[in-house]
Amino acid sequence: MSQQARRAVPPRQVNPFEVALRQFHTAADHLHLDDGVREVLSHCKRELSVNFPVQMDDGSVKMFNGYRVHHSLHRGPAKGGVRYHPHVDLDDVRALAMWMTWKCAVVGLPFGGAKGGVACDPRMLSTGELENLTRRFTSEIQIMIGPQYDIPAPDVGTNAQVMAWMMDTYSMNVGHSVPAVVTGKPLAIGGSAGRKEATGRGASIVTREAAPMAGVRLDRARVALQGWGNVGSALGQFLHEMGCRIVAVTDAAGGVYSDHGIDPANLTRYQEETGSVVGFPNADRLDREELWDVDCDILAPCALSSVITRHNADRVRAKMIVEGANGPTTPDADEVLRERGVLIVPDVIANAGGVTVSYFEWVQDLQAFFWDEDEINRRLEQIMVRSFEAVVAEAETYKVDLRTGAQMLGISRVAEALTLRGIFP
Ligand code: NAD
Repeated sequence: MSQQARRAVPPRQVNPFEVALRQFHTAADHLHLDDGVREVLSHCKRELSVNFPVQMDDGSVKMFNGYRVHHSLHRGPAKGGVRYHPHVDLDDVRALAMWMTWKCAVVGLPFGGAKGGVACDPRMLSTGELENLTRRFTSEIQIMIGPQYDIPAPDVGTNAQVMAWMMDTYSMNVGHSVPAVVTGKPLAIGGSAGRKEATGRGASIVTREAAPMAGVRLDRARVALQGWGNVGSALGQFLHEMGCRIVAVTDAAGGVYSDHGIDPANLTRYQEETGSVVGFPNADRLDREELWDVDCDILAPCALSSVITRHNADRVRAKMIVEGANGPTTPDADEVLRERGVLIVPDVIANAGGVTVSYFEWVQDLQAFFWDEDEINRRLEQIMVRSFEAVVAEAETYKVDLRTGAQMLGISRVAEALTLRGIFP
């Protein structure tokens, strides 16, 4: 792809924080949430916005804007990823922080919700520039993070190497090594076995549990995925191992389609070599927008927010949507899909495997005692299955869809913590 094409970022049409608030108020209405609690939880607790310089390879200096937002600390330290993407702005980060609060509560972790990010295109930066940006951003938000305070993790455009730089920068600034300040680190510096695949593994477990509700048999299911990054590629691999056929995959540059099925391991190798899934041998080219029309049983958006809207929801042919991404479906699209009988497995449960194993990583770092991968995967399976059952039970009790049921479960747990702690002073 040309540099020009990579730089062209279409304007955002939907404000994710408005979406998050609409979802929150829908769930709060069903819960008959106390007005004071509703008022507190509809705001983010703390928002830091930073503008900082980075020395580029050509000697020039470029300014970047970054953010770190805490939505709620009622259930424990805040937890949430760091996103590097041109679209990152304060409302994006606020929405993602709020969703983190509900997600941590849904899976029963002792964390509140946070998120952060820098408006940049990491694909346009050299490794040295990316490191400079990460180290300066970490120093700028250092007053907001810490192992008992707020623990960042990878998200879109960041990875284990970025977490290593964040951990090292924080450690240099305080004068000793603090592995528990971030999760999603490389194994060699206190990362956890199983963390890299955890979000995809968790999403595949929830897909398996939800499939009978949508009348989908995994050994016959056709799957279409948006995004072949950390989440999408792992989910594709696990669903393939469960017997599904991966028929379509798109990424930022385009997509591929094969009626016979795409081998996920080969696609990942190809994508690592070329930087994209586009051009994968023995598959047809698919435009990004054509993904919505693909004949499939399971559609898994695993890229960005607000991609399924009222403009394309009636094109979706899947029986179920598994939200690997955060906030991929707008409330208008939710309505269209519900009326059409499409089962949506919502983000706050579908992609909660990542933060669950991040929690395991944090616990291991604090104890300086590490578990083997079998133990991690066994505990992850247990938490995902138990939490999904709790979401289904909540939805059935209140006769609402899974998204509202999941948010009601998360919000009620946060509301209980808030009420018990009371309002200071
Ligand atoms: P990533 O950066 O590893 O991968 C993102 C993928 O999306 C890439 O393949 C990219 O090419 C693709 N993409 C970007 N724009 C696109 C577009 N317009 N059309 C199609 N594809 C596009 O990111 P990730 O960590 O896999 O995160 C993906 C989503 O999952 C995000 O919404 C993130 O918040 C969510 N999530 C991630 C984790 C985690 O552990 N990494 C955990 C929970 C939720």
